[in-house]
Amino acid sequence: MFLPPSTLGILGGGQLGRMLALEARRSGYRVVIFTDEPPGCPAGQFADLEINAAYDDRAALDRFLSAVDVVTAEFENIPDSCLQAVEAVKPLRPSRAAIHTTQHREREKLFLRRQGIACADFRIVNDLPGLERAVAELGRPCVIKTAAFGYDGKGQRKVVEDTELAQAWRDFEGHNAVVEQWVPFACEVSVVGARAADGGMAVHGVVENWHLHHILDVTIAPARVTPAVMKQALQLWRAVAEGLDYAGTMAVEMFVTRSEKVLVNEIAPRPHNSGHYTIDACVTNQFQQQLRAVCGLPLGDPSQHTPAVMVNLLGDVWPSETRHPDWSPVLAHPRAKLHLYGKAAARPRRKMGHFTVLGNTRDEALLAARQLRFALGIE
Ligand code: AMP
Repeated sequence: MFLPPSTLGILGGGQLGRMLALEARRSGYRVVIFTDEPPGCPAGQFADLEINAAYDDRAALDRFLSAVDVVTAEFENIPDSCLQAVEAVKPLRPSRAAIHTTQHREREKLFLRRQGIACADFRIVNDLPGLERAVAELGRPCVIKTAAFGYDGKGQRKVVEDTELAQAWRDFEGHNAVVEQWVPFACEVSVVGARAADGGMAVHGVVENWHLHHILDVTIAPARVTPAVMKQALQLWRAVAEGLDYAGTMAVEMFVTRSEKVLVNEIAPRPHNSGHYTIDACVTNQFQQQLRAVCGLPLGDPSQHTPAVMVNLLGDVWPSETRHPDWSPVLAHPRAKLHLYGKAAARPRRKMGHFTVLGNTRDEALLAARQLRFALGIE
């Protein structure tokens, strides 16, 4: 067990690392960030020490490892060589194996299939004839996704016509790809929860997610789904967490079909954007749970005390790279909480912050969220 003032090492310097660092510092831990971003990154602003180097810079990594007691990652696209080097020296939670499986769509999908966990039917392809065969078997439309390093809809393409296949394959530059059956979903949900190293689990409820341009836009907590859907979603989260022998906070994004079947879409081996509402609406938030699971402390109560809606604030809302929008509508709302990530420059589609608004009911929170979006000029 790592008690305060132990030092938590975080691989990655983005907003998830920032919110984890805030939580850790609040609880009396020291924090060291390792990132390939320039100094002053969102997480580094709250760290005792920020190391800025490439993930394969062995000397910098050694410096990081000598400064920390236990290590976690705030994003999954970390070279395996780095994860191996960390795990050889310090406890890494989640494990290198769990990150390795979930950082790559092909490995993730094969894991789901092996475990018998419900997901969209898929094929792995590595050439154009393979792609053509896969599409013939799965039917159109379907989605081609790069096997490695995809997120927020990057590296994916919906294919409707067979004539698109040759061009689609050229766009993928011959990389391995996962071809997935199209799921005409009724809605998308996710479950965020934590699993302790001893196997104990504490799961936040099922939330509903709406995306815009493949990026999360709004999370409604709790989700507007039936108890049967909730039950399936929670069971899927547990199956994934156990299958990975997971330690830490993990999110599973899912599709809910019109016949109320729940399918796993994607696993995130870390806290997740759709869990940000837990900071303001749950007894123990996803970052505190991550800290607890990583440090071997008992998990907290994950239950939600107030209905909430979270709205992402992308760079598109900023009038210029450095000029902030007028926050007064959000600040004037007594039950809205503004979270900004300290990023120097706003760019289109870049996640700059979010706000969460609480309500006596979910509908009240939704109405307030809609009004605040409108006031901020969000499309
Ligand atoms: P992903 O990057 O895999 O999470 O996909 C981003 C978004 O694309 C998802 O949240 C869905 O809205 C959509 N999407 C991805 N895969 C499928 C699919 N097989 N069927 C329907 N929509 C999909």
